[in-house]
Amino acid sequence: MGPGVTTLRPIAGQPARLVTVSTVAAPAVVDSPWLNAQRQFDNAAEILNLSPGLRAVLREVRRELVVRFPVKMDDGSVRMFEGYRVQHNVTRGPAKGGLRFHPATDIDEVKALAMWMTWKCALANLPYGGAKGGVAVDPSTLSHRELERLTRRFAAEISVLVGPESDIPAPDVNTNAEIMAWIMDTLSMQAGYSVPASVTGKPLEIGGSEGRPSATGRGVNIIAIEACKLLGMEISQTTVAIQGFGNVGSWAAQLMHESGFTICAVADVTGGIYSRSGLDIPALLAYRQQYGGVRDFPGCTPITNTELLELEVDVLVPAAMENQITARNAGRIQARLVVEGANGPTTPDADSILERRGITVVPDILANSGGVTVSYFEWVQDLQSLFWEEDEINVRLKKILTKAFNQMCEQAERHQVSLRLGAYLVAVKRVADATAVRGIYP
Ligand code: GLU
Repeated sequence: MGPGVTTLRPIAGQPARLVTVSTVAAPAVVDSPWLNAQRQFDNAAEILNLSPGLRAVLREVRRELVVRFPVKMDDGSVRMFEGYRVQHNVTRGPAKGGLRFHPATDIDEVKALAMWMTWKCALANLPYGGAKGGVAVDPSTLSHRELERLTRRFAAEISVLVGPESDIPAPDVNTNAEIMAWIMDTLSMQAGYSVPASVTGKPLEIGGSEGRPSATGRGVNIIAIEACKLLGMEISQTTVAIQGFGNVGSWAAQLMHESGFTICAVADVTGGIYSRSGLDIPALLAYRQQYGGVRDFPGCTPITNTELLELEVDVLVPAAMENQITARNAGRIQARLVVEGANGPTTPDADSILERRGITVVPDILANSGGVTVSYFEWVQDLQSLFWEEDEINVRLKKILTKAFNQMCEQAERHQVSLRLGAYLVAVKRVADATAVRGIYP
């Protein structure tokens, strides 16, 4: 086939569609999160010199469940939805990972997110494998009661996989503590008794943990401080742009502001705002509470989400969705340091460009691992029915993340590779070693 030939080509998990295949350029589906996740794994497997058998095991997902289910809408009609739960690996313990409600969610994305959870848990040395799930839905189009019915039905559909010993969901994009409470209640009604450890990120009233809502943002702040130390950057003179102002972005903004960083720009789905001298973050949080978004916050220049990524700041925190920094815009990123609050915001092609340009990227599997780390604490507390103070949570969190940060740096230094690859070397080796020790059944 010559360059630029159009053909019918299936994309993982989607019906075949027309794409243009080039024989010279990169593959057509460059932004498939799943193919990108596999590429990242392959890079680590190569350096670790993993056997072909181990590679074959670890570069695929263990289980993928696709469910299609009806939900009764408020007007009496019935709508069908599609949902997913994927377990990439369960060698080191139960599968762990969030559930997202997003219109663009599909099996390709969920598989990638599940694999990233495996490496994230392994890097933090949590006794978990990796999973992810979601429903293809825009929750802003549903009433509160429709959202509850959808959540409960979806929980029932995936309950064949979920449980404290097998697979433990948590919040992710567009899901929150209330949704986790509905899931916990649904699973508990099926069991006939309360099963708090089946879900993390729950409200405190039913076995949630102190410090869980802020945990991912707290981790971003801890890691940003460590990375600044590594690069010799003075925090009081460091400017930051944050893409995404949901749970991760808003907590990261608040805690980084408290640490002394100057947050110059943030953006959410309503738009973005920029102030060269720095945003008043407490005032912005109050504004967002009142108006539902950051757009039109007084005294700022309006910017788009895309413009935010290319601002002249020292630190960029993509904390929204995957595939934000790609080969198309990586050449225009001006930050010195990228701290990935989101999962998969930088594609492998973009990684190579940033590396060549001397921009340091702290990978998602470390930078946003504060959330799953405190999820682990929540699960442990639920299983013991013994609850910890927030101070204890935060001290333990910092200890785990700084240890993982140092192990990542040590590997990156030893092999003269990027921090992402350094992090993968630690994580993939742990899962590969566990697999080898257990052996292949039967
Ligand atoms: N959804 C979060 C993540 O991507 C948290 C997962 C969890 O707590 O299990 O890491």
